[in-house]
Amino acid sequence: GGKYYSYMIRIAMPGGLISSPQLLAQLDLCDEVGNSTLRVTTRQGLQLHGVLKGNLKKVIRRINEVGLTTIAACGDVRRNVMCSPAPYKNNPVYDQLQAMADKVADETMPRTTAYHELWLTDENGEKTLAAGGAPKDDEPLYGATYLPRKFKMGVALPGDNSADVYSQDIGMLGIVEQTSEGDTVVGYNFVVGGGFGVTPSAAKTFARVATPLGYVPADKVVDVVKAVMKVQRDYGNRSDRKRARMKYLIHDWGMDKFKQKVEEYLGDAIEDSRPMVVNGHDDGMGWREQGDGLWFYGLNIENGRIKDEGDYRLKSALREICTTLAPPMRMTPHQGVIFCDIKPEDKERLESILKSHGVPLTDEFTTVRRWSMACPALPLCGLAVTESERVLPSMMDDLESELDTLGLSDARFTTRMTGCPNGCARPYNSDIGLVGKTKGKYTLFLGGRVEGDRLNWIYKDLVPEEDVVSTLKPVLEHYKQGRNDGESFGDYCDRIGKDDLLAACDA
Ligand code: SF4
Repeated sequence: GGKYYSYMIRIAMPGGLISSPQLLAQLDLCDEVGNSTLRVTTRQGLQLHGVLKGNLKKVIRRINEVGLTTIAACGDVRRNVMCSPAPYKNNPVYDQLQAMADKVADETMPRTTAYHELWLTDENGEKTLAAGGAPKDDEPLYGATYLPRKFKMGVALPGDNSADVYSQDIGMLGIVEQTSEGDTVVGYNFVVGGGFGVTPSAAKTFARVATPLGYVPADKVVDVVKAVMKVQRDYGNRSDRKRARMKYLIHDWGMDKFKQKVEEYLGDAIEDSRPMVVNGHDDGMGWREQGDGLWFYGLNIENGRIKDEGDYRLKSALREICTTLAPPMRMTPHQGVIFCDIKPEDKERLESILKSHGVPLTDEFTTVRRWSMACPALPLCGLAVTESERVLPSMMDDLESELDTLGLSDARFTTRMTGCPNGCARPYNSDIGLVGKTKGKYTLFLGGRVEGDRLNWIYKDLVPEEDVVSTLKPVLEHYKQGRNDGESFGDYCDRIGKDDLLAACDA
């Protein structure tokens, strides 16, 4: 027999917005040709795992038939544009954010029709979908060589940075003003040059949080996004892939030079950033009134895995919800799902569908688990050096009981784990980061925070998996004793600093 090649297929939808028929189609596909699970990604997309090569064309066609796409979900182009997902309707700001994410995504979509010619044709090469039009290779934005590396963008608010924009190549933080139409996002503070990929063998690589570029009025956002992308296209490092992300260009040049170059491409000056305080994260978990008579419900999904396994049957529950209540949904950057537009009289029904399928409701999760996130790692990712998704849940069990003993169960902090330094679950700005270093051992980071605007730092390296919780325990005790009123775990660790923490806690 020949070799079987199996693929991961990723679907990109700006801001994680997806309809019930669209999600149903993905659930069908994961059963028919995938590994029977679907994964909500950390960028509000969806992944199908274990698709055999011979099924690729069929799968990609079916995805496109329901109005979704895999274009620019991977590759050296802009990736899925993220957006803080809470679907409030009494505050027009959230719709404006999503509209901006859609617009930016649309304007930066590769124009090539090669995708359609390859994937959306029948055996005779005839197009099976109208999309694509006449063959074009004209790419005004990407040029002949595309970008040096992947390019990530997100849209959020200073008061709700759930799109985690400081981890991205371009983060846009909406500045809201009262106008005659009510609250309006009049423009965005741009932060640029974030990125979390690190190559362990290469000291020249590092995680970076994005830094301020300036303020951009709403009607200029697309122009500035394109100017920034073109600077990275033309000056980003194409000879060393490990240093090809835009963060290295900005690091090497400094922000002044980078900004000047962007202004040159733009043909205009960029204003100074408007004052703002980044102070919140609201990914819409639990029941909330939308403000238009309807409700939304944010369901936390542990590590984003949609599956039926034993008594836990989230996949079947989603099928039933999508066929009966059929709500529009938002995938969240913390790998949850928000069911939108739920009528008051359907609230109980939604809950009972989840409960009858053994799916824990969001308020049944402990705080620490609800704020945790892991990348897929072993056995699904070829780069993984340690476990991640498969071990975090049991690590959470232990951490839960320690926190309970310490009386810290209500403390809100992010724990993010990855199976290698590539950082897919954004471990470098979390309160606790666990990054796979070598077989069974992790680098333990402390000092980031929920708001996502600060890097954490290495507390201890090469911590064996079974020692992670016992290493954290004295630090948590120290936090409990020494914290100021309302101070978060990450803020505390950052205030005390690595040396003093180690001296006090690492006996
Ligand atoms: Fe794979 Fe590493 Fe990304 Fe985890 S962080 S999914 S192991 S590349």
